[in-house]
Amino acid sequence: MDYLLTEEQMDLKRVARRIALEKVLPVRAKHDEEGTFPWDMVKVFADAGFFELYIPEEYGGAGAGVLELCLVVEELSRICGGISLAVAATALGTFPILISGNEEQKKRYLPDLSQGKVLAGFGLTEPGAGSDAASISTKAVLNGDHYILNGRKCFITNGSEAKIYTVIASTDPTKGTRGTSAFIIEEGFEGFSYGKIEDKMGIRASATSELVFEDCIVPVENRLDKEGMGFLVAMKTLDKSRPGVAAQALGIAQGAFDLALEYTKERVQFGKPIASFQGIKWMMADMYSAIEASRALIYSVARMIDAGKSNVAQAAGIAKLVASDTAMKVTTDAVQLFGGYGYMRDYPIEKFMRDAKITQIYEGTNQIQREVIARSLLRGA
Ligand SMILES: Cc1cc2nc3c(=O)[nH]c(=O)nc-3n(C[C@H](O)[C@H](O)[C@H](O)COP(=O)(O)OP(=O)(O)OC[C@H]3O[C@@H](n4cnc5c(N)ncnc54)[C@H](O)[C@@H]3O)c2cc1C
Repeated sequence: MDYLLTEEQMDLKRVARRIALEKVLPVRAKHDEEGTFPWDMVKVFADAGFFELYIPEEYGGAGAGVLELCLVVEELSRICGGISLAVAATALGTFPILISGNEEQKKRYLPDLSQGKVLAGFGLTEPGAGSDAASISTKAVLNGDHYILNGRKCFITNGSEAKIYTVIASTDPTKGTRGTSAFIIEEGFEGFSYGKIEDKMGIRASATSELVFEDCIVPVENRLDKEGMGFLVAMKTLDKSRPGVAAQALGIAQGAFDLALEYTKERVQFGKPIASFQGIKWMMADMYSAIEASRALIYSVARMIDAGKSNVAQAAGIAKLVASDTAMKVTTDAVQLFGGYGYMRDYPIEKFMRDAKITQIYEGTNQIQREVIARSLLRGA
């Protein structure tokens, strides 16, 4: 397939592939086993310019877009879907500032984020509000020149490692989603701490933690946009970031496929490489076709977003749904192709299956994606 990438985009993809092979591969198993955050890789990614891609040049960025971010996340995830999240989740935490930050907020936060000096996270989910994100109970009460935040966010990617979090809280509980606002929270704000650090099935090199607000003092100038715009900021953020989750899923699927292809050519049973059996060949053809279909979809949705098209929610949801279901199917089939060895931790293939699962869950589960897609169908959008 030719995806008609520009020379610059192909170069970027090659650089990400090289860094993934030379730098990420040697530390992948260690971070997965120990569940440690890949600070060693953050420096490498920052030097390669991966954090600046989608940030405009006037704030120290490269002025590229979501497609470039997807290319990098895909190539890093092809080796490690957990380590790639240092980049992808920072984008998720930065998008609200890009989407709705004022000039002062952009000048204050984007330069350090674009250089990878600090990482970001995005806090929407709460213990009682997951798929039903509109039911958040974290409250922000205006008190003179600051807000006082109380509540708890859970499962926050980059949590406890990032320095900046964009967080959605309710400023007027009587107005539902129209009564929510978005805030930029810095590590070190009075009343802000980290709660439980999660121990996960997959993406173990990624940090996931609670954010706890106990009479947390947040200056008014750290509110993004007007009061009441929080839910809209969150939804626009997810529209822009879901292709990144899809790219993570795509990379994980491709990485598992690469290993399975190599293995089926080498593994001999009944006197022949197992790749010569029709049952195996057809599996490989189906896996590869699904991967290419996901890639075509993701690149085209990313291009839509970069071209400034509105109403991308359905397209972003389709990309995330198709790519993550593909990743789960392809990685499960790849383990199958390795037979008993696929089930053993000695081989890297089982990690791909563990890492794939999260892509069907976060940034809206795939049931919720189906809801989003069906809703826009019924509206005739
Ligand atoms: C590792 C990890 C990292 C995460 N990172 C972040 C982050 O950085 N920021 C953040 O804000 N959140 C984050 N999340 C939260 C994630 O987005 C939520 O877990 C997800 O949206 C689902 O919410 P829930 O876990 O409460 O499940 P629930 O909403 O309780 O859902 C349980 C099940 O019910 C299904 N379900 C719920 N409602 C419906 C419905 N209407 N129709 C059909 N099925 C339905 C769901 O699909 C799911 O299968 C992360 C989660 C994990 C596990």
